[in-house]
Amino acid sequence: MPATLTHELNHDLHSHSTASDGTLSPAELVRRAHAQGVDVLALTDHDSTAGVAEASEAAATLGLRLVPGVEVSVTWNGVTIHILGLNVDPEHLGLQQGLAQLRVRRDERGKEIARRLAKAGIEGALEGAQAYASGAIISRTHFARFLVEQGHAKDMRKVFKKFLVNNRPGYVPGDWASLDEALGWIHAAGGLAVIAHPARYRLSATRLRQFIGEFKEYGGQGIEVVSGSHSAGDVQGMAQYARRFELLASCGSDYHGPEQPWVELGQLTPLPENCTPVWQQWETAA
Ligand code: AMP
Ligand code: MN
Ligand code: MN
Ligand code: MN
Repeated sequence: MPATLTHELNHDLHSHSTASDGTLSPAELVRRAHAQGVDVLALTDHDSTAGVAEASEAAATLGLRLVPGVEVSVTWNGVTIHILGLNVDPEHLGLQQGLAQLRVRRDERGKEIARRLAKAGIEGALEGAQAYASGAIISRTHFARFLVEQGHAKDMRKVFKKFLVNNRPGYVPGDWASLDEALGWIHAAGGLAVIAHPARYRLSATRLRQFIGEFKEYGGQGIEVVSGSHSAGDVQGMAQYARRFELLASCGSDYHGPEQPWVELGQLTPLPENCTPVWQQWETAA
């Protein structure tokens, strides 16, 4: 058979640029994805679509398909959960108003993180973190880079553990969108809602099933089965949930930049058999 008939498109539907806490500009990210063999890339920055226009332009010149996306921060029963919106209209006013609210909360949280770090003897953290942020959003990742730069920990993993997670001096709990709000914004903007890296949350199996059930009830459509942060066992477990809850299956690296060489664009394991890929939705619609 000719190769063109058997070639499955390489999908990577979760990635970050400098518009959030990634380290490559949207255009650099797209060029790297193309070089790594990605055919369809979703740019899913945290609580912002500021990088989508630049990424789309770069993708058009390379013949790569860019899926406009966003990773929305949600608080569900006190736990932070990330919901991807894929194929959203970045111009949609309701979506943009919702994301703008989250960015205001990010700014407020950033100030509070800096106040708490100052109490712990670390001055200038807000300015230090902002120096690593493009201005679209401020993230714990930016604080982490500043803290590593200042020698307070050796690497990103250690700095999170020492300062930026629950019960640590620079931890401020997020107060993000409700599940209902997040799904409302994504759907109003014509997007498809997908639970990001479901195996990574601080939830027991029972609570995770409860969450997935609510997500499905509110009209959520997909779950990330293959993720840069999932083990082979996680993939199998999440594929079972996809089938059980009749959710579409997605795959994404959650790429943040070359500083994390253990995650690369477009190098994901295939979706398990008898999962329905999320892209069937837009391929059949096209
Ligand atoms: P935020 O949304 O501002 O609370 O920041 C969350 C981001 O921090 C995630 O999207 C990851 O990119 C990053 N992150 C969270 N935990 C860790 C960790 N243990 N090591 C490195 N990066 C982390
Ligand atoms: Mn991130
Ligand atoms: Mn995430
Ligand atoms: Mn992500």
